[in-house]
Amino acid sequence: MYCTACGQEIPSTARFCAQCGVAVPGAAAAYEGAPKRLFRLKMDAKIAGVCAGLAKYGNVDVTLVRIAAVAATLMTGVAPGTLAYVFAWIIMPVEEWTPKPSIVMPSPESTRA
Ligand SMILES: [Zn+2]
Repeated sequence: MYCTACGQEIPSTARFCAQCGVAVPGAAAAYEGAPKRLFRLKMDAKIAGVCAGLAKYGNVDVTLVRIAAVAATLMTGVAPGTLAYVFAWIIMPVEEWTPKPSIVMPSPESTRA
């Protein structure tokens, strides 16, 4: 592996070039051992974003998580599932809103015409 900035050969386990200090592309893989964090996702929320957060954490479709959550809640007599959701709502931190690249906000000029 070679540094993209200075061309110096660097070990494949390096995160930064020892010669020039530039971060090695793909070095993020070295951080994969870091624990994933469970967040509520306000941007994808129907209620509080608990299901969206669980879906992102488990890398599954949020609709499947919602269907499973609703089914589990109904099958357990509503109260346990509702309590679990409220507890998750209280315990899980909120992930900061990050705009999706596909969302384009209309400018005030285009809506006025
Ligand atoms: Zn370098």
